Amino acid sequence: SLSERLGGVFDRLRGRGALNESDVREAMREVRIALLEADVALPVVRTFVEKVTEQAVGQNVLRSVTPGQQVVKIVHDALVDTLGAEASDLELEVTPPAIVMMVGLQGSGKTTTTAKIAKRLTEKGRKKVMMASLDVNRPAAQEQLATLGAQASVATLPIVPGQQPVDIARRALQAAKLQGFDVLMLDTAGRLHVDQALMDEMKAVASVSEPDEILLVVDALTGQDAVNVAKSFSEQVALSGVVLTRMDGDARGGAALSMRAVTGKPIKFVGTGEKLDGIELFQPSRVAGRILGMGDVVSLVEKAAETIKVEEAEALAARMAKGLFDMNDLRNQLNQMKRMGGLSGLASMLPGIKQVKQAMASGAADDKVLVRMDAIIGSMTPKERGKPELINAKRKIRIAKGSGTTVQDVNKLLKMHQEMGTVMKKMKKMGGLKGLAGLLG
Ligand code: GDP
Ligand code: MG
Repeated sequence: SLSERLGGVFDRLRGRGALNESDVREAMREVRIALLEADVALPVVRTFVEKVTEQAVGQNVLRSVTPGQQVVKIVHDALVDTLGAEASDLELEVTPPAIVMMVGLQGSGKTTTTAKIAKRLTEKGRKKVMMASLDVNRPAAQEQLATLGAQASVATLPIVPGQQPVDIARRALQAAKLQGFDVLMLDTAGRLHVDQALMDEMKAVASVSEPDEILLVVDALTGQDAVNVAKSFSEQVALSGVVLTRMDGDARGGAALSMRAVTGKPIKFVGTGEKLDGIELFQPSRVAGRILGMGDVVSLVEKAAETIKVEEAEALAARMAKGLFDMNDLRNQLNQMKRMGGLSGLASMLPGIKQVKQAMASGAADDKVLVRMDAIIGSMTPKERGKPELINAKRKIRIAKGSGTTVQDVNKLLKMHQEMGTVMKKMKKMGGLKGLAGLLG
């Protein structure tokens, strides 16, 4: 497995301080193989590996995890990050009917997925859904959707033989409006290969129906071709998301990474079977584990993450207790927050999180606040960073100017830093890290 292979690479590194570039590069050779085996498209592999290498070089090897574990964790986190961090559903909060258009190659699973999503919206979202097939190329394609609609108890637009896709779309739109449907799903035709006639038809349908969601449906086994498919479709219409079908088979799911990287759009669902309830919201961490191809990767990563959290918190606690927690430490913490996608991931890690949360709540969005705080610390001199008590009124004005913020912002940051120190002292009294739990959240 990848973890074993990485273990070999890093055995000799144990006890050394930071991951250096040549060690990381060596490890990334294994990662590269794992990604290619998972069918991630080559150009995507290259970019990804480059990015992760940059992130990993210089990171400290923690005491209680092996460097191999740590690299697996870094790769895993970067995968999750690239795949989209969290599940994202359809966005249909518009004046009804919301229009969802399905596009993709023939056989990718468009028609089945249309019915699956319609069923899900009907049952879970309590929406009134209508489906219409615009596939006039494939014999009986419209009947196929009607049959699925009957199975799923979802309405379908009556078939008018001989009508062309754009006209069907117009008729569907009108029917959905008149009959008060919340959602209209348009299932379109596909070809075996990307061709211009298909693209033109798709664009024409999109321009008459103005969809709120355009979902690209892709077979998880698409592999190296994924990049071309994703590119051609995303160049022609404004995709809002991707559906990856046949994830119930033995696809490792590398297409997910390729799709995400090329389209920049979230993967919203995965198809998990031929039946109409074979659909799930996309779970980035699950797919990341699958791409890395290790049954043990999830527990390994979780274990490493736990250890890393505890170790970092312990080290931080020790520094705070000694009164050593300075602006450099705070900055590290803020950067960690950014890496972990804001505050939510950090809740169990940072002493004094309550204070930070309050500071955030009174400010703007997470990211902006983090960036601003980082800028403020960046405008301090090294001396000030090491000894924040030096920062008097005059220095505050200079720091505010330098960081494009206000003295008020600088004060907020200093106050937060101070409060974190106070929390730390309390924590020590309460018996160290165990007492921390009560102070968090
Ligand atoms: P379209 O040409 O894009 O409309 O594709 P279809 O919806 O007709 O699907 C083609 C075949 O793939 C059908 O036999 C489906 O049952 C099958 N299929 C679609 N999605 C999935 C899935 O998630 N898992 C499995 N195992 N089969 C699927
Ligand atoms: Mg079809």
